[in-house]
Amino acid sequence: MEEAKRIKQLPPYLFARIEKTIEKAKSEGVDVISLGIGDPDRPTPEHIIGKLCEQAHNSVNHRYPSSVGMVSFRQAVAFYYKNRFGVELDPKTEAVTLIGSKEGIAHISFCYLDPGDVALIPDPGYPVYGIGALLTGAQPYTMPLTAKNRFLPDLDAIPSDTAKKAKLMFINFPNNPTGAIANDGFYKKLIAFAKEYDIIVCHDAAYQDIAFGGYRPPSFLEYPGAKEVGIEFGSCSKSYNMTGWRIGWAAGNPQVIEALGRIKSNIDSGVFQAVQYAGIAALTGPQDCTFDISEVYRERRDIIIDGLNSMGWSLEKPQATIYVWVPVPKGYTSISFAEEVFQKTGVVITPGNGYGEYGEGYFRIALTVEKERMIEAINRIREKIGHVQF
Ligand code: PLP
Repeated sequence: MEEAKRIKQLPPYLFARIEKTIEKAKSEGVDVISLGIGDPDRPTPEHIIGKLCEQAHNSVNHRYPSSVGMVSFRQAVAFYYKNRFGVELDPKTEAVTLIGSKEGIAHISFCYLDPGDVALIPDPGYPVYGIGALLTGAQPYTMPLTAKNRFLPDLDAIPSDTAKKAKLMFINFPNNPTGAIANDGFYKKLIAFAKEYDIIVCHDAAYQDIAFGGYRPPSFLEYPGAKEVGIEFGSCSKSYNMTGWRIGWAAGNPQVIEALGRIKSNIDSGVFQAVQYAGIAALTGPQDCTFDISEVYRERRDIIIDGLNSMGWSLEKPQATIYVWVPVPKGYTSISFAEEVFQKTGVVITPGNGYGEYGEGYFRIALTVEKERMIEAINRIREKIGHVQF
């Protein structure tokens, strides 16, 4: 059976090898601690689960939902934007419900990219941006995120010929995998750049409510002119521990939202309405849960950073996300370090090159295991890897 070229060109699943090694180790009785997957380990808050149960019993919800989402869910998105960022959205034209933000991130490329078009993709980054672009036959152009630039893309380094050909730019702050955040200056410059070159900005804000020490990540849509040039992807997944529920949204420019809704109506049939009601409960209900969830990650972050710094690293504490992005010690590649840590300690860390070529030389730790296991992981690394050099 001959696969289509678009499928053949997909890069091999970089984590497959690691997963195989983990399975083998587990079957041999190794006590594996996985700091690899960014999937929240704590349960969804009770009031959200309660709403799902209640609405699952209502037979009206058992029928096909609208592919662009219930108006009441989109109103909840608008309520959240007003409440959290002071941003006004028209729920009918400026918001669309997504089957998790990943779905919209993948589909947006199909709305705007033709073969040969250029999409600007951050590297390291969430792989779906580049994959969506590749599947349309477009050319991904890499925007390196480096420590020198505090992991912000250097817009001045994009050649103007490339910028002229580019139709979409993906941006993600707070950032996976680097944990970096963006400031007002960056967003203002980004909007001016997008206007100059007529580029649609797709800002991925999946981590916008996971932040520490009083820091509150802004929305891209807060900045003047943002709605003229782009959209923001949001998600209930990380803010409310709802990765399995599959609910998110895109909000912003009405033309782009309409195009995304149009492609969705031809491909999917939306999100189970009971889940949308649960999403409404999340976005319009008490928000203390997002602070409680952030506090859990803050405590785990401190264990990891303090532990690694005591072994020779000199890491700053990230102000947001559920990740810590760490350079590998001297003499290692991302893969060789991740493999050595796993072989010697049973602790899984993700090699940075899994997120793009500029991720080489780093590894990512996901803060998604309980504090006691974090401490155990750090103790094993200290005992078996010891003091490191750079
Ligand atoms: N964007 C980023 C940067 C992510 O890390 C993830 C998931 O890990 C997503 C988007 C997708 O989130 P979801 O589809 O669960 O909304």
